Amino acid sequence: MPEGDTIFRAAKTLHTYMSGHVVTRFESMYPSVNRVAEQQPIVGRTIESVSARGKHLLFTFSGDLVLRTHLRMNGSWHIYPAGARWHRPARDMRVLVCTARACGVGFNIPVAELLTAADLQRHAQIRSLGPDLLGDSFDQEEAIRRMRDRAADPIADVLLNQRVMAGIGNVFKSEVLFLAGVDPFAPATSLTDADLRRIVVVAREQLTANVLPRSRTLTLATGRWTTRSLNPNENLWVYSRGGRPCRRCGTAIQSRKSGPDARVTYWCPSCQAGPRNS
Ligand SMILES: [Zn+2]
Repeated sequence: MPEGDTIFRAAKTLHTYMSGHVVTRFESMYPSVNRVAEQQPIVGRTIESVSARGKHLLFTFSGDLVLRTHLRMNGSWHIYPAGARWHRPARDMRVLVCTARACGVGFNIPVAELLTAADLQRHAQIRSLGPDLLGDSFDQEEAIRRMRDRAADPIADVLLNQRVMAGIGNVFKSEVLFLAGVDPFAPATSLTDADLRRIVVVAREQLTANVLPRSRTLTLATGRWTTRSLNPNENLWVYSRGGRPCRRCGTAIQSRKSGPDARVTYWCPSCQAGPRNS
């Protein structure tokens, strides 16, 4: 599942290369989107901005129209120089926005709709998002208050709950709890304010650090930019390392499915031996 930082970075790159430019081509595989686009053509509008709100990626066009997409588990946005070959088959394309210079291609994006700014304000999913960990105005105390509201839930599930805080996906969930030294199955109620604060600070640090470009090529010249950024070969502490020795203490990393979607959690039972009431 794309993490908040992946979506934030995708939005930032699309914004850098596409905002201020006029749309020359717009396609979608969604009849509901096409119906709106027939009435209110996207071609000819200027892309005012591309931004992320939690896991929603938004293209704002001139003339009060916003394309909202949600990547869910398998969606991704790629950007290519105009005319460049895509790295994914055309059949996976769901939404296409091109300027004279570049094309943003949404592959396997399961949710797309065209809205006015007022519709977006009223949008239930966006309204219900918790404080955005990558937002400039992130409200730490509000995030902690919302974590307390989910007192009975294991902290691992609380971190995935976008109504508590927006931005953490399954990879960061395990990594953040390792770095904070917290047992992923501890109910939020068993954790002190200091624990919760530490988790939030680590989450924000980790997500923010990942927003900065690393060795990946972000230039349009090569067109080799994708939103798939979390390379499993990178040095993750615990995620996807079940049975292998902890990088800090050598104990075998454990893994277990949990939560409403049976997402896998990875943890080190020695480094994360915090309180557990269940
Ligand atoms: Zn360890």
